[in-house]
Amino acid sequence: MEAGEQTKRVPLWRSLQTKYALTYLVVIAAVLVLLNTYPVLASQEMVFQSKQTSLQSQASVMASALAGPDSLSEEGAARVMEVLGDPGLSRVLVTGPSGLVLYDSAQRAVGQYALLREVAAALGWEDNFRSDFSQGAFHSRTATPIVYRGMTLGAVYVEEYDIFAGQFLVNVQQTLRTISLVITIAALLLSVVFSKAITRRLGQLLGAIRIVREGEYSHRVKLSGRDELTQLAGEFNDLTDRLQTTEEVRRRFVSDASHELKTPLASIRLLTDSILQTGDIDPDTVREFVGDIGSEADRLQRITEHLLALTRLDAGAPVAAEPVEVALVARRAEHMLEPLARAVDISLSMELEEGVWVRCTRDDLYQILFNLMENGVKYNLPGGKLWVRVRRVEDRVEITVEDTGVGIPAEDVDKVFDRFYRVDKARSRAAGGTGLGLSIVQDTAKRHGGTVSAQRREPEGTRFTVVFPLCEGGEEE
Ligand code: ADP
Repeated sequence: MEAGEQTKRVPLWRSLQTKYALTYLVVIAAVLVLLNTYPVLASQEMVFQSKQTSLQSQASVMASALAGPDSLSEEGAARVMEVLGDPGLSRVLVTGPSGLVLYDSAQRAVGQYALLREVAAALGWEDNFRSDFSQGAFHSRTATPIVYRGMTLGAVYVEEYDIFAGQFLVNVQQTLRTISLVITIAALLLSVVFSKAITRRLGQLLGAIRIVREGEYSHRVKLSGRDELTQLAGEFNDLTDRLQTTEEVRRRFVSDASHELKTPLASIRLLTDSILQTGDIDPDTVREFVGDIGSEADRLQRITEHLLALTRLDAGAPVAAEPVEVALVARRAEHMLEPLARAVDISLSMELEEGVWVRCTRDDLYQILFNLMENGVKYNLPGGKLWVRVRRVEDRVEITVEDTGVGIPAEDVDKVFDRFYRVDKARSRAAGGTGLGLSIVQDTAKRHGGTVSAQRREPEGTRFTVVFPLCEGGEEE
């Protein structure tokens, strides 16, 4: 991906901020709709029910008071209603069996027919009640038949126009609206503040990633809070730490490697210049110089071979490991080193347990053993000793290479596995060392699940211990 493509801004409609704010608002809107409908509908329903009970019972009381032969005249009905007193209703009608109005609390319809749905229903013995809420008032009506000795003598119609309950409901509605408005404003503000805070912190992270991507590995991101984003920032910083370390190691390696290659090249240059520029140089000197050029070229070759070996190990290419018998490989290394050891008067002694197998490749195991044994000879003293021991310890295989040589100072014991690290540069050079042998040993052992460590040997010399997991039944395989 192009750098520009990665850094371009996310459009607002696709941004996390918008999505976050929208989700927040949708949830709040749903809550508000619920808040503004359910309580109002529930209270309306409650008022309807209480109105029905109270109106129907009032109508029934009137109907039973009117249930008598004398009541079914205009005077009779008026008398009974007077006795009953003011019922606190908007209107009360008393009708005869045909719906003719005998009594009207509003004094308007006496002598007319009450063309009301409720009256017709009551005369037909049907249960009826109607209530509605409009313009801040509850308007309710019902009618009940007047029954005397099983006969329908007429009906009582009652009607109520209640503005108090209506007002109460209007107040509830208004309060809910005010609360909703406050919640909406608060939600809007909060959603903007929160989403901005999140995007700001994400922006900080993104900015840090870009800075590190440009190669500034020392940059770290600092995020406040203790949420997942802070965790993410912590992980990112850890990752950058590792990247920085790796980068430093890589830089050091490249500079060390170029330095190591430069030295023999400079020697070669010097030697060739001497040959070319010296007028009457004698053939023996030329031969000597050419010999030196040859050994410098050998050194270059060794360094490049070791570098290549390390590069292959770094690449971590899969290996076709197989069961390898350690004693066999150790004997091969002994065979190869014998002439060198003899030349510097070092005695080799091998204590090899037979039938001990590890899962490795022959070449890798040989490389490990040969490098350690060669060091044991190179850094030894004339007349010194070198022991190689292979034994099985529980489910592991322990290989020790021990010498009576110059030893390694305590402070250097762990550093000898670092690339290009040498305790005594001159001695290593003189012995043809590259400072890479032990790094190769360590990386190769690691690659096959093994470890290698160095210890000082008392009273003198060094002991290297390699431990591998045992490969059981290697013989059968
Ligand atoms: P080199 O090619 O220089 O031998 P190595 O990686 O094999 O590089 O070893 C690194 C350094 O560790 C050597 O230069 C040497 O100083 C020290 N060293 C390794 N093996 C021994 C040993 N058996 N005794 C003393 N010093 C050792």
